[in-house]
Amino acid sequence: MAQVKVLVEGKHQFSGEKLEIGSTVTLVKTDKNIIVDPGYYPDADKLIESLKNEGLAPEDIDIVVLTHLHLDHTINVHLFPQAKIYCKLRSAGYPGQFHNLEQGYLVQADMSDGLELAEDVEILLTPGHMDGHISLLVHTPEGKIVIAGDALAMESLINLSKEPTLFDDLAQYNESRKKVLKVADFIVPGHGPMFKVKK
Ligand SMILES: [Zn+2]
Repeated sequence: MAQVKVLVEGKHQFSGEKLEIGSTVTLVKTDKNIIVDPGYYPDADKLIESLKNEGLAPEDIDIVVLTHLHLDHTINVHLFPQAKIYCKLRSAGYPGQFHNLEQGYLVQADMSDGLELAEDVEILLTPGHMDGHISLLVHTPEGKIVIAGDALAMESLINLSKEPTLFDDLAQYNESRKKVLKVADFIVPGHGPMFKVKK
């Protein structure tokens, strides 16, 4: 079965008047090595170091999944030029795509609910924060882990009456977080550490 390891616990925090930003970076090890949301530029060294502790170098990563295209989740994607970079872009009319950065091309891919990206790893469509937002559902010995990106930007958003600060479509956001909460035993949010879902 697959293994999930949080490599960087990214969070937003104020330093004086400046908002320092960071997003959580996650590694999935199965028949392929997958990074979900490579994160924000200042965390690049930390990310490489954490990977090294897992016995991996950037060139060992086969797939990078971008849950959505906000900069705090995506800018370190250049660290993995050999990987296939998956994203959805928009849910209506366009199926999704992967990029082959090093070779300079992209391919359309049908990123529908349940698509198996690797053994024990499937796509979960979770629009609302952004149109085309995707999460990953990973089957592990510990249970089902959803790497949710900003479909559940932080743990406090498990409270369904709490409104997220940023969204495209609140009704869709609420549907998506209900979907994540229903299926997940553990959640890796877009920002902060992995947590267990109380059932
Ligand atoms: Zn975002």
